[in-house]
Amino acid sequence: MIRPICRMGNPILRKKATLIPKEFIDSDEFDQLLRDLKESMNHYGGIGIAAPQIGINYQVAIIELVGLNKYGEEINFPFSVFINPEITYLTEETQGFWEGCLSVPGLRGFVERPNKIQVNFLNEKGEAKEIIAEGFLATVIQHELDHLEGILYVDRIKDTRLISYQEEFDKFIVQRTLD
Ligand code: ZN
Repeated sequence: MIRPICRMGNPILRKKATLIPKEFIDSDEFDQLLRDLKESMNHYGGIGIAAPQIGINYQVAIIELVGLNKYGEEINFPFSVFINPEITYLTEETQGFWEGCLSVPGLRGFVERPNKIQVNFLNEKGEAKEIIAEGFLATVIQHELDHLEGILYVDRIKDTRLISYQEEFDKFIVQRTLD
């Protein structure tokens, strides 16, 4: 079911999400939650979504990257479910991307984040997984997992001059990048 997206200002986006008990992962209710997340992400055109964004205060986020995305990055990362994730930063080196968020519609902002991370999590079968991610994928994962901590990407914008409406971004910033 496509769920309405909770937008910035909704207090659920500012809460730390609850750890998911292992037995819940096997439940029909959890299957339904995953389906709702996927349908909502696809419907609203996201490349990732976290449960608090649809009003569910649980530590689960999904990501799927297929070819060229709306952020101008071409990368394939298969549909993945991150349950109770933990991030380890593998470098202090950062890189910046213009991020956007379904919960902050119409805006883009430039955020710098560590460019190499390790994530330990459970997948949708409850199996313990570990991945190492770099570059844009590392940013996407950090963005989604921040939602489980009550953090929005706008909190991480250091230079508030680097916030733009999407239309102005397309008009002034993308063009400048291409020049
Ligand atoms: Zn977001």
